[in-house]
Amino acid sequence: MAIATINPATGETLKSFEPLNDAEIAAKLDLANQAFEQYRKTSFQARSLWLQKAAEILEQEKADFAKVMTLEMGKPYKAAISEVEKCAVVCHYYTEHAADFLADVAVKTDASHSFVRYQPLGVILAVMPWNFPFWQVFRFAAPALMAGNVGLLKHASNVPQCALAIAEIIQRAGFPEGVFQTLLIGAAKVADIISDDRVKAATLTGSEPAGTSLAATAGKHIKKTVLELGGSDPFIVLASADLEAAVATATTARMLNNGQSCIAAKRFIIEEAIADQFEKLLLDKFLALKVGDPMQPDTDLGPLATPDILQDLDQQVQVAKNSGGKVLTGGYPISDRPGNFYPPTIITDIPPEAPIAQEEFFGPVALLFRVPDIDAAIKLANATPFGLGASAWTTNDQERLRLIAEIEAGAVFINGLVKSDPRLPFGGIKRSGYGRELSIQGIQEFVNVKTIWVK
Ligand code: NAP
Repeated sequence: MAIATINPATGETLKSFEPLNDAEIAAKLDLANQAFEQYRKTSFQARSLWLQKAAEILEQEKADFAKVMTLEMGKPYKAAISEVEKCAVVCHYYTEHAADFLADVAVKTDASHSFVRYQPLGVILAVMPWNFPFWQVFRFAAPALMAGNVGLLKHASNVPQCALAIAEIIQRAGFPEGVFQTLLIGAAKVADIISDDRVKAATLTGSEPAGTSLAATAGKHIKKTVLELGGSDPFIVLASADLEAAVATATTARMLNNGQSCIAAKRFIIEEAIADQFEKLLLDKFLALKVGDPMQPDTDLGPLATPDILQDLDQQVQVAKNSGGKVLTGGYPISDRPGNFYPPTIITDIPPEAPIAQEEFFGPVALLFRVPDIDAAIKLANATPFGLGASAWTTNDQERLRLIAEIEAGAVFINGLVKSDPRLPFGGIKRSGYGRELSIQGIQEFVNVKTIWVK
């Protein structure tokens, strides 16, 4: 895949980049490794000041950064602004809490004193996706740098200007040279880098094949990994739910980021008694969405990020139709304009056991399933290889307790949108990956949990 900025709304190539050669990669690895030796000795206070400054740069220049994101991957500009603001929030969060999260923890034993100390691991490779090109990187970088680690970013090949802008923000914030670098490289170079002795661990957010490949190499070299992979999140609406609120959130949950979010609601599982009503209300909402130029403030849905994603989604929709699915709206790419546009689409009647019902649809396509009761809803919710998030709607206490206890996912949101929040851990189970980002759990992923025993 070429490293280039190609505007997904027009198909125009705006800028291309030469990938780094082997000598340039080696020089960056050296620099990262050397930087770690000094950086690990810096205080939480110094790191906090730098991260605070990064937050200020993000806040002050959010319009510029948002524009680059929209240009490279097509998310609506207003959503890109919110994304930059959220990056500043995660910087503030770890500025404030990292020292407490990583403070020594005393433990009473037979020693004179014994305690747990958290120390950085070293150079961490972050392989990141294009869908939240700033947020995914900052939610890795803020805790990793506060813990005293050094970061190397291999960003997705279609967002090189975002990747360069992020490294520049961190450098301008005052972090020492080499503490965070962008590597403009293709995916084929990742295995060599994770195998390199100078790199101590890796995190990857992206697809299952990419995660499998990175984890296999890291495993061979006994290196820690965190994987944040795909999802096919259920959105369960039971008959007792506040239907209006559920439908409004369902629309946001599916359409966020032009439908390209790992935690987007992808399978809508509706109790039969309210299914006709839900279907009609959702259809009305989808038909009211404005598809168009993502730079315009009134656009709800922009283009998909690349022509390949458009093609893959279209193919999945055709398979869904051939498996018995009935299309209520949409169902074909928008062909009367350039760019990778796909309309809001609703598909009902796919047999739950059809293989396509278990796949992740990465775009504005909602699959609707009807179930007789909560037992069937939970069973269907869990009938995928993924386990990232779940949104479930009910006003009944007993139902709420069952949904919390029985849904297999890294997060269950009752009567709300599944979202990431720096204060709460984020991550999945099953084929959605392992490990956690954000909160105290996130900063403790890439540290040596050192046991100290003194007599
Ligand atoms: P992708 O193709 O896996 O790309 C993600 C990153 O991995 C890119 O930097 C890519 O580089 C790199 N990569 C691809 N193949 C690789 C390989 N074999 N070895 C090492 N690196 C490799 O994923 P995507 O299609 O861009 O992103 C969409 C997927 O990410 C969806 O499944 C989505 O659910 C998931 N996602 C998960 C989360 C989460 O937190 N769980 C968040 C966002 C997205 P190139 O661009 O150079 O190919």
